[in-house]
Amino acid sequence: MNTSKVIDGKAAAARVLASVKADVSKLKSDGIEPALAVILVGQDPASQVYVRNKILRAEEAGIRSLEYRLSAETPQAELLKLITELNDDHSINGILLQLPLPAHIEEALVLQAIAPGKDVDGFHSENVGGLSQGRNVLTPCTPSGCMQLLEDACGDLSGKHAVVIGRSNIVGKPMAALLLKAHCSVTVVHSRSVDAKALCRQADIVVAAVGRPRMIDSSWLKPGAVVIDVGINRIEEDGRSRLVGDVDFDSALPQVSAITPVPGGVGPMTIAFLMKNTVTAALQQFHSRQAHAQQSTTQSSPSEAVCLSIS
Ligand code: NDP
Repeated sequence: MNTSKVIDGKAAAARVLASVKADVSKLKSDGIEPALAVILVGQDPASQVYVRNKILRAEEAGIRSLEYRLSAETPQAELLKLITELNDDHSINGILLQLPLPAHIEEALVLQAIAPGKDVDGFHSENVGGLSQGRNVLTPCTPSGCMQLLEDACGDLSGKHAVVIGRSNIVGKPMAALLLKAHCSVTVVHSRSVDAKALCRQADIVVAAVGRPRMIDSSWLKPGAVVIDVGINRIEEDGRSRLVGDVDFDSALPQVSAITPVPGGVGPMTIAFLMKNTVTAALQQFHSRQAHAQQSTTQSSPSEAVCLSIS
């Protein structure tokens, strides 16, 4: 197997986390301690694993984490009250509400209640709108991680034709917006697309976010394409349970110039970018409080302003 083509998401995530850790240390020396609140409603086993991993990575990066575990029966009003309290708490910089939520809670409504500046998942409509306008806002973690992997693999993405398979709010749509922002020509295919395979075969870059095990084999891919496989699908094979992507890795590998494996590709980058977003949020909140303080005092002069920046 030619492993040089295989994009190492764990190594890329470790680089992002090392940079986040250095940024956190710099912020702490300036008196800012980034903090992330993670809310889990109910006891979905996969969500519990995701939350545990997020808390662990935060601790490793030096980010203070606060975990709020609520019962599956928690009324929506109580969840909204907690979000409001966290929005108002200046010591909290990021709020992550683990999905999925129990059926009685209206997901779109509670996600919209998170203050846009603390919305480290990038799901609030203000951040979604900002991304589509090409502004620097908090962007969803998985597509941000995919962009980093693509930039590492391809360098400048300008002018490349990218096909995104899937149009969810969490992955497909923000992925398309980020690729457009990076000056790609972008095609989004979905379940109603006519001949998705033919469209995909034209792509220099393929991002698969479908949720269908091994749907995309070599017949979907142009020789030399770069493939980012977001899919995480659990299947039973040869008497054991295993995770596979949306791309048939073994079939695709000889055809492509680079490809992410599952697991070990996009997955680790999602958590790394959650940490990066938390630090970005902490810095933005610091600057906005500082600008507010300067506006409200007539004595302050520009030379008194503290200007912090991170990589
Ligand atoms: P959704 O189910 O929300 O979206 C799937 C998308 O795929 C939809 O837009 C759907 O089209 C499209 N689709 C379904 N069938 C086809 C088909 N035959 N041809 C073309 N398009 C099709 O999934 P998510 O976006 O939330 O997740 C996608 C995958 O990524 C899942 O496996 C998920 O587990 C994984 N994931 C991985 C993450 C990570 O960290 N690595 C993070 C988030 C997700 P339509 O809109 O028309 O229904």
